[in-house]
Amino acid sequence: MNLINHYIDGEFVSTKPSRTSPVFNPATGSQTAEVAMATSDDVDRAVAAASRAYESWRDAPLTRRQNIMFAFRELVAKNKGEIAKAMTAEHGKTIDDALGEVQRGLEVIEFACNIAHLLKGDYSEQVSTGVDTYSIRQSLGVVVGITPFNFPTMVPMWMYPIAIACGNTFVLKPSEKDPTVSQMAAELFADAGLPDGVFNVVHGDKESVDALLAHPDVAAISFVGSTPIARYIHETGTANGKRVQALGGAKNHMIVLPDADMDLAADAAVSAGFGSAGERCMAISVVITVGEAADNLLPKIRERITELKIAPGDASGAQMGPLVTKQHLEKVTSYVAAGESSGATLLVDGRDVKVEGHEEGFFLGPVLFDNVTTDMTIYTDEIFGPVLSVVRVDRYEDAIQLINDNRYGNGTAIFTNDGGAARKFQNEIQVGMVGINVPIPVPLSFYSFGGWKDSIFGSHAIYGPEGVHFYTRPKVIISRWPDPIHRGVDLGFPQNV
Ligand code: NAD
Repeated sequence: MNLINHYIDGEFVSTKPSRTSPVFNPATGSQTAEVAMATSDDVDRAVAAASRAYESWRDAPLTRRQNIMFAFRELVAKNKGEIAKAMTAEHGKTIDDALGEVQRGLEVIEFACNIAHLLKGDYSEQVSTGVDTYSIRQSLGVVVGITPFNFPTMVPMWMYPIAIACGNTFVLKPSEKDPTVSQMAAELFADAGLPDGVFNVVHGDKESVDALLAHPDVAAISFVGSTPIARYIHETGTANGKRVQALGGAKNHMIVLPDADMDLAADAAVSAGFGSAGERCMAISVVITVGEAADNLLPKIRERITELKIAPGDASGAQMGPLVTKQHLEKVTSYVAAGESSGATLLVDGRDVKVEGHEEGFFLGPVLFDNVTTDMTIYTDEIFGPVLSVVRVDRYEDAIQLINDNRYGNGTAIFTNDGGAARKFQNEIQVGMVGINVPIPVPLSFYSFGGWKDSIFGSHAIYGPEGVHFYTRPKVIISRWPDPIHRGVDLGFPQNV
């Protein structure tokens, strides 16, 4: 069995781990590898390597950091086909979708290639006679990324290109479900000329995460994953004196007003509901129809669902692959049963889907529920699978209220041709990322990504300008070069004359 081991101080660890976890190909259901589970000793070694590397990396010239990031960008772009294939083999998403993921990661690397500009400080001359003041931003030290299974390439790339370009060193703890692409990133960084110890990977679960959260030499933690773990990471990390940004789960709603372009709205609901088998934090899981919109929209959604091709992610023409693990498939399927027994109308039942030759794969077809109410678990819980719920309301105001009452606030969208309604939505909605006739409004790399409410803990959104702020701290300097005026003892508060 192929063993996926940690990457510390510029090399893959060769010693046998005391504990491993299985890695599966979700399309076949068979185990393809085992991944090492780090102990606190492994974490100590990784953090020690990153601390040593920090001593010189913090002072590496900006131009050198940028050049390495440019080289890394070229290597990731050149290898994107291989990276996509590796993701499909462990996550299950389609190759097309995986290529899109690499592209979104590349955009953050490109942003980090511009770090010299992004780290420019301010300068005010002559704030007092012969006195100047200026500000600089400096790196934090060893920073950690803990990431989820659903975007094994892109989400780590939301973090480490910016962290490293800012002068920090990095320890990545990726999801144990699809670890291979993090190994590839480590190799590409080495090829790009990144010094040993600047980028390290430890694989593992709670044991390694807890060791990172408690480690005295870890300065900051970026986390992306489910809400209960995000809350735990934020509480524990901040209690241990670390800077923490922790992005959590979601339940994204899309409002469809009666005046919307119904074909566009149906395309969007199906693409955003079932893309990546619903395993996206920005997936649409609830469609709120206002008034007569439901009767126009639902037949169009059903028609599109019946045309979807459910197949292994690397099969030609595949639009939706399997779920990530058998346990996750069972969990999502149990929500479908719960929805049915709680009285929602099951319009499309994906439990019947069979993929020929892949009977052991973790496949579930698209599921569509109508007449969902806010007390049902299919509404209250993040299912993270191909389950789309339709909630019908009479008035636009009720649709907005529903979203604002929800505990999550990651993404949302409205479909309408009414500019006034769209403006009201962007103004009143309590959600961090908003689409107007756009179902998955993921910010470009030069903005920042972050939800509201239980979708984020900590005050910084991720990547973009907020990423630069998260991975640096400001320093303000006031300087005076001795001159004839400022001599002599003066115990008074300076009056800047
Ligand atoms: P998860 O919370 O189970 O795992 C995330 C990370 O935390 C993994 O590295 C995992 O090993 C670690 N972890 C799991 N349990 C832990 C524990 N008890 N203690 C310490 N560490 C633990 O999430 P997942 O299932 O891998 O990913 C799906 C979730 O991530 C969904 O909730 C999704 O909405 C969310 N997500 C959010 C965003 C966002 O930007 N807000 C983006 C992608 C995914």
